[in-house]
Amino acid sequence: MKGICILGATGSIGVSTLDVVARHPEHYKVVALTANTNIDALYQQCLVHRPEYAVLVDDGKAKELKSLLANSAATGTIVLSGVNALEQVATLDQVDSVMAAIVGAAGLLPSLAAAKAGKIVLLANKEALVMSGDIFMQAVAESGAQLLPIDSEHNAIFQCMPAGYETGMQAKQARRILLTASGGPFRQTPLDQLVEVTPAQAVAHPNWDMGKKISVDSATMMNKGLEMIEACLLFNMEPEQIQIVIHPQSVIHSMVDYVDGTVLAQMGNPDMRIPIAHSLAWPERFDSGAEPLNIFSIARMDFEEPDLGRFPCLRLAYEAIHAGGIMPTVLNAANEIAVDAFLNGQVRFTDIPVIIERSMGLFAARPADSLETILAADGQARAAAQQIASELSH
Ligand code: NAD
Ligand code: MG
Repeated sequence: MKGICILGATGSIGVSTLDVVARHPEHYKVVALTANTNIDALYQQCLVHRPEYAVLVDDGKAKELKSLLANSAATGTIVLSGVNALEQVATLDQVDSVMAAIVGAAGLLPSLAAAKAGKIVLLANKEALVMSGDIFMQAVAESGAQLLPIDSEHNAIFQCMPAGYETGMQAKQARRILLTASGGPFRQTPLDQLVEVTPAQAVAHPNWDMGKKISVDSATMMNKGLEMIEACLLFNMEPEQIQIVIHPQSVIHSMVDYVDGTVLAQMGNPDMRIPIAHSLAWPERFDSGAEPLNIFSIARMDFEEPDLGRFPCLRLAYEAIHAGGIMPTVLNAANEIAVDAFLNGQVRFTDIPVIIERSMGLFAARPADSLETILAADGQARAAAQQIASELSH
């Protein structure tokens, strides 16, 4: 029996995680659930899963939750508030596994705290890894934490790795990773129409149902750029060893190419409960609730090379990883601001890469040798991107 803390319990990944956990009460006990402000969803989750702790970052909302729970059947749940409470619950003794499913840089400190505390870290929060890079991987190595990827592609790659493989190691005889991408909703949209794209169109992903931020990232393909950096870190590979492959059907979730010419692929329906269940049960397997793959209903599988002209965010991610140091942190921070500005109607879809590129241009690459350096670069890049977004605002 393992204790689990779910950071970002009310989001798309958090909800899918609770769905899988509830299928296996003999394996998992819910110790802590956290959310930013969504009190209604967290209250309902407390009633169903009866965690020891519930965290709402927002103080006022946490007070409200406390009084709601006091008059409910879940009186045993302790309500905490503030950002420090996220780290507190992620490092509790009775917590064995931490699902890191907060979106964006806000997830860095609690995810890193879980890694430093030697927990089993189920990592969905790719932004945290991209911005902290080697520091995160070092924390995992030093504490003996187990880092398991939830991102469907990275989970697929992990499953295609040789027996005994652990994240951070160099895989024996694996020469290349084929990182698949759906290409998002605008893979074939005429380029001159991209300027008109609305937030509603951008978040309507063809194959996956996800949070808003990652849906926009999928539309710009920044998601694949972040995932390329994530793959370099998790699997100890060079960017040149990672080939991005557009595969619009999203049936193959990624592949590993070995020196003898063998290519191993992991397949399945596009349902995040599959990688989540894989990581929760690892090294065993258990039911995820996902529909079995109907191989006969897949009429065909297509593969294309990505067009860096259509997807400038992908080019910027390559530039960031090649520059190294703080540049992936700057890329990520500027992207978060640009996506917010787009979702709020402040800037156009095609302004997103412009904001990121101009922000990156303001920074010289310097080593990301401490957490302080990374957090400072994150803050400066956000301020710069915000300024550029307001200049572009229409
Ligand atoms: P989401 O927007 O649906 O949920 C985000 C969660 O984080 C919510 O519970 C929210 O309360 C919490 N949160 C947001 N801002 C916060 C803050 N400032 N402080 C504390 N908590 C905060 O997002 P999602 O789609 O579930 O994605 C979560 C992470 O998983 C992202 O990093 C995303 O890239 C990654 N991921 C998601 C999917 C997917 O299918 N949704 C797939 C692969 C990877
Ligand atoms: Mg992914």
